[in-house]
Amino acid sequence: MVDTKYKRILLKLSGEALMGKQQFGIDGETVKYIAEEIKKVHELGVNIGVVVGGGNIFRGVSESAKGMDRVSADYMGMLATVINSLALQNALENIGVPTRVQTAIEMREIAEPFIRRRAMRHFEKNRVVIFGAGTGNPYFTTDTAATLRASEINAEVVLKATKVDGIYDADPVKDKDAKKFDEITYLDVLNKGLKVMDSTAISMCMDNKIPIIVFDLYGKDNILNIVLGKQIGTLVEEEHA
Ligand code: UDP
Repeated sequence: MVDTKYKRILLKLSGEALMGKQQFGIDGETVKYIAEEIKKVHELGVNIGVVVGGGNIFRGVSESAKGMDRVSADYMGMLATVINSLALQNALENIGVPTRVQTAIEMREIAEPFIRRRAMRHFEKNRVVIFGAGTGNPYFTTDTAATLRASEINAEVVLKATKVDGIYDADPVKDKDAKKFDEITYLDVLNKGLKVMDSTAISMCMDNKIPIIVFDLYGKDNILNIVLGKQIGTLVEEEHA
């Protein structure tokens, strides 16, 4: 058995991660790629919880800005995350990875409701657990859902998958002098207003001492290498003593 740095991780995928090069929706090849990356870690016996966003299908804030009631828009966003969760479940099971989807809003015909103890039991049985419907509450994001579930399942780390290879002091797409951090503290992320996760999510990780690793999802073997303890992306944690 390979010795891994982490035994239980929470992987946060944005909805956009599933759309590949498309402008919206779900790209089958991209979801397959993600499933294969997850499988490599699953094969090492690591417990994997996944929270998927919904931005590729629906984002509550922008729709409410267009005049829709915020709460209704947010519920639509949460439903979008369930669609993505089912797509990922399907892709994982197609390559032989056992999974369960648990939703924060009950829809028993589609998935199990979120029950923490049951999620823990699934980990014992080596199933990947995908948490859908965010936190179940409007006015939150799936980043916050990810940190909440990570806290509940005692995950050792939140792996925040993005399109860039870490956290920079400026937008690396717009500014070629942008500098990448290998490590940064939660407080620096908040104080510098770095767009990593929303402040609720960052504070929750800070309070519960859960490190966050921001990394490039499209870097092959990145998730595997992180779990094996290699330095990939940017680590957000407390200041070392
Ligand atoms: N959402 C919500 N409560 C939650 C999680 C999500 O209301 O606990 C809604 C919110 O409208 C959000 C949308 O679902 O805009 C999709 O989630 P998010 O924008 O976090 O997805 P991502 O950016 O990761 O694709």
